[in-house]
Amino acid sequence: MANLLSIINPATEALIQEMPVDDKAAVAEKYARARAAQPGWAALPLADRIKPILRFRELLVERVDALAALLTSETGKPITQARNEILAVPGRIDFFVENADRVLSLERVYAEPAGALPGMGSLEEVIGHDPLGVIANISAWNYPYFVGGNVFIPALLMGNAVLYKPSEFATLTGGAIADLLHASGIPQDIFIPVIGSGLTGAALLEQPIDGVFFTGSYATGQKIAIATAPKLIRTQLELGGKDPAYVCADANGAVAAAALADGAFYNNGQSCCAVERIYVHTEVYDEFFEAFLATVRGFKLGDPTDSDTYLGPVSRKPQLSVLAEQVTDALAKGATLCCGGQTLDRPGWYFAPTVLTEVNHTMTVMQEETFGPVIGIQRVASDAEAVALMQDTPYGLTAAVYGTERDRAVDILRQIKTGSAYWNCCDRVSPRLPWSGRGHSGLGTTLSQAGLYTFLQPRAWHLRAG
Ligand code: NAD
Repeated sequence: MANLLSIINPATEALIQEMPVDDKAAVAEKYARARAAQPGWAALPLADRIKPILRFRELLVERVDALAALLTSETGKPITQARNEILAVPGRIDFFVENADRVLSLERVYAEPAGALPGMGSLEEVIGHDPLGVIANISAWNYPYFVGGNVFIPALLMGNAVLYKPSEFATLTGGAIADLLHASGIPQDIFIPVIGSGLTGAALLEQPIDGVFFTGSYATGQKIAIATAPKLIRTQLELGGKDPAYVCADANGAVAAAALADGAFYNNGQSCCAVERIYVHTEVYDEFFEAFLATVRGFKLGDPTDSDTYLGPVSRKPQLSVLAEQVTDALAKGATLCCGGQTLDRPGWYFAPTVLTEVNHTMTVMQEETFGPVIGIQRVASDAEAVALMQDTPYGLTAAVYGTERDRAVDILRQIKTGSAYWNCCDRVSPRLPWSGRGHSGLGTTLSQAGLYTFLQPRAWHLRAG
């Protein structure tokens, strides 16, 4: 009998559905279909690959209500945030479509006339690009439309076939994405969902794929890197973060507080680029702290299907223990609990929004990815102290500085190991800018033109007339 995946609603703990999991034989069959179909897809004119992607864009907007409801049901993401996620994908599609032709065009970089060398014909040197072939897209659950779309949309446009393994915690959404792409005209064998958990993901890596594009935790990312190392294939890893924010002495404390509370608690803190630790200069600390706590206390927690709910349940039950352990560890080492700190006594996997102060770097809450509605705020006496603390984790995804002086913020951010640097903003992603991590936050780049090139391999053409 086939293995079954149970899909649970995090807000009610009710079983939504059981789905058969792809075993090794099913994964191999899907790989073979993709391998056979990919050359034909790559040979199409670019316009024929753009057309179904633009239809997908239309269908996302037309069907946003149903798609958002499905995403909310299996992840507990508040419905307004689910809609926001889906409705931000068209902007990313537009960027990819507008840049696809430029990236795929042949570029003549050198020309030599006939006879330049005695008896030789003319010479051209041309740079071209070929798709990678069949790629695996192993995805996380926290933003399935974003993290999946950053991979499968450019990968398809560039002529690859995609074996798409959604997270086991966003499988229904993964299926809906596949249905929508197929309804838009992407061939069934060019985008193939692969259903299951980590074991299925591992089985996918056993196939002779040409690249793997992974979004998930550092721990799993390491396993992926180890599995693919002997294959020598492109391995892109978008991993976790422990993203710091620093509020300088000259910042407007209240404005920074409102923005950073949102950056820390949006999507219940379950964003790779969520603000995970905050350092505040002592001169602005009181003003900041008061406004921050007031903002957090104002967040509406509850049923994620209500359009005014800001905080729903966390998406995975085991995360409740991780959050409780970080709070317990911090309190044992001298932190002050300002609000929250425990699971809520109601059905669903709810954790009260939690603010800790008097924290320090001996505490796990300031060192390890929290990925939930818990934040530590630490007072600092100087920019130099803030820089040292911001640097003090192995991660490097994003970092933010709030303050009035741009030069000062840029100078601070330059000293931080980070893929994205924010001045007076945070938790922000742009299709025009490269999305990448340093250190334990991963390898490789999505978005921007680099996020198209990453699905291609260059070919050097040396063309001499005979
Ligand atoms: P995860 O590592 O638990 O799982 C990610 C995916 O890997 C899932 O599809 C899972 O089934 C699969 N998987 C698990 N074990 C595997 C194995 N041995 N071989 C192949 N596949 C395997 O991560 P998650 O809980 O889904 O996502 C949360 C993490 O993702 C957080 O750390 C978050 O910061 C990170 N994330 C990073 C970004 C980014 O852009 N850097 C974006 C979103 C999420």
